[in-house]
Amino acid sequence: MDSVRHLVVGGGISGLAFADRLRDEDVLVLERDDEIGGYCKTVHQDGFVWDYSGHFFHFRHPEIERELVERMKDQKILVVAKDSRIWFADSWVDFPFQKNIHQLPKADFAECLHDLYFKDREHPGTPKSFLEMLYAKFGRGIAERFLVPYNEKLYATDLGRLDVEAMGRFFPYANVDEIVANFGGGRDTSYNATFTYPEGGAIQYVRALASGLDPAQIVTGEAVVGIDLQRKVARTSRREIRFETLVSAVPFPALLRLCGMAFDESLYTWNVVEVFNLGFDRKGPPGIHWAYYPQRDLSFYRVGFYDNIFGSDRMSIYVEIGRPQGYRTTPEAREETLARVLADLKRVGLVDEHRLVSHHHVLLDPAYVHVTRGSQRDVDAKKRALATRGVFSIGRYGSWTYCSIEDNIVEARALADACNLAASAG
Ligand SMILES: Cc1cc2nc3c(=O)[nH]c(=O)nc-3n(C[C@H](O)[C@H](O)[C@H](O)COP(=O)(O)OP(=O)(O)OC[C@H]3O[C@@H](n4cnc5c(N)ncnc54)[C@H](O)[C@@H]3O)c2cc1C
Repeated sequence: MDSVRHLVVGGGISGLAFADRLRDEDVLVLERDDEIGGYCKTVHQDGFVWDYSGHFFHFRHPEIERELVERMKDQKILVVAKDSRIWFADSWVDFPFQKNIHQLPKADFAECLHDLYFKDREHPGTPKSFLEMLYAKFGRGIAERFLVPYNEKLYATDLGRLDVEAMGRFFPYANVDEIVANFGGGRDTSYNATFTYPEGGAIQYVRALASGLDPAQIVTGEAVVGIDLQRKVARTSRREIRFETLVSAVPFPALLRLCGMAFDESLYTWNVVEVFNLGFDRKGPPGIHWAYYPQRDLSFYRVGFYDNIFGSDRMSIYVEIGRPQGYRTTPEAREETLARVLADLKRVGLVDEHRLVSHHHVLLDPAYVHVTRGSQRDVDAKKRALATRGVFSIGRYGSWTYCSIEDNIVEARALADACNLAASAG
């Protein structure tokens, strides 16, 4: 039987960041797919560069970004001042909606402002869910014009099920003073007012992390199919491997299944995001990077524009559609959805005489996990139990949370540092 001190399951950002930081060469990364990258894969097709879904980066730790960029010698890193907008009443409103209600038609503005002013009277008490939080913090006008329909389209679930903190720091909070101050034309102070993007796509960050490893330490096309916690042995699609420590970036409920641990399936729900990457023969609207669509009768909730990041002359976009858990598609259904997407793009004025010259499709499943108090409690308790067996679950899906690749790197490195420390102490 093969044996390794540190077995890493998943060759995405999290698994590679862990293995790269570890000061022990006895480490093996197993990736089920034929290539590394997980959700940070990039597609090059017909002269277009697309990620699995738009991945743009805002680093809060400049040292992490510097270190990764230093490893990308051949890459130009584009630094872009974000232009994101919301499509409302056949016109554009700057993102975030709640800070730009003064840009709405007068009657909408008046109602949003009225409801914002009286929100504490109308929605008293501590909100218990994401839905209640939206009403309590912003009032009915803002909630029902944008925040509720948009997030329902995205999460494809009843927002009353989600935790108040379902989006953590990624939710653009704003108090009444900030909203009113913005009426004079404020700066965008949302968490990612500028972002960076490597010319070669999101996969460049993955490759930068992988470059710290010996290629023999990464094996693709090999899935872990079972984990024996007693014997500390992983069964893969090819062999058995004994380990001392196992670090997994597999979605948490799937890891529990691999370990044969019983759990309450109803605690773990998520959405699926269906992504169409579309390349056209001519330019679309200039300048804009993201457009948000709260309208329930439009298929997509968000469109992102690669051509306005690259400064290229053919419209290159990703279109995201929120789907419920369990969503499956067929080639016929995909074609139908694509036709609907193209019609909707025309309706909102992004496409007129444009000819679609290239397209690519992917389902992200899971995409946004439904963070609830129950799921958070269960993940914490079961992660602690697994840790006593030398099994550590990390990553966006391994920790069952909402986070960025930078958060993944920070979490993975903290675990590697703890392993390094334990090794040097023992
Ligand atoms: C729609 C969308 C947009 C996003 N946009 C951004 C953004 O703009 N900026 C940003 O910073 N982040 C963004 N993210 C988040 C980012 O994609 C994730 O944080 C990151 O990719 C997670 O990396 P990971 O390694 O934790 O998980 P993954 O990328 O899921 O990697 C896990 C790996 O484990 C492998 N695996 C699973 N099961 C097994 C098994 N049994 N055996 C072996 N291997 C297995 C998988 O194939 C996969 O490669 C976005 C996410 C989504 C869904």
